[in-house]
Amino acid sequence: MSQTVTKKLMLFFPRCECEKPIIYHLVKDHNLVVNVYRAKVTPEEEGYLVLDVTGTEEDIERAMAFVKTFNVSINYTGKGVTVDMDRCTHCGHCITYCPTEALYIADEATREVAFSERDCIECLACIRVCPFGACASAF
Ligand code: SF4
Ligand code: SF4
Repeated sequence: MSQTVTKKLMLFFPRCECEKPIIYHLVKDHNLVVNVYRAKVTPEEEGYLVLDVTGTEEDIERAMAFVKTFNVSINYTGKGVTVDMDRCTHCGHCITYCPTEALYIADEATREVAFSERDCIECLACIRVCPFGACASAF
């Protein structure tokens, strides 16, 4: 019998895919134990789920292949989004989009922006909105 493993994943949902019962199918059809611990998914807008899935490597692989058929992007968190401070102009544009304040004003006087890797849930919002390409993901 295959060993079970737990993987931390982030699923990024385009607007039209938010209502589909993807998690239900991960549990019912792919035998995974799913622990959602951060989520922002509404029918009106883009959303993301950060979750642990537990199952065999084979079941997880099949489940992720299923998820991708819904135009959902998968990010295997743990390696992290990076912010290149050489490119960052400290314009502050990303801050209002960051749901966890991982991007924040570190110095009120200089308006210097800083990045807390620990608080980043890899929603990828900053990558989409940064006008200077300072934010990037390995995935
Ligand atoms: S949007 Fe980009 S350039 Fe502006 S503060 Fe954020 S990371 Fe820096
Ligand atoms: S990916 Fe960017 S916007 Fe999302 S939590 Fe991390 S720093 Fe904030």
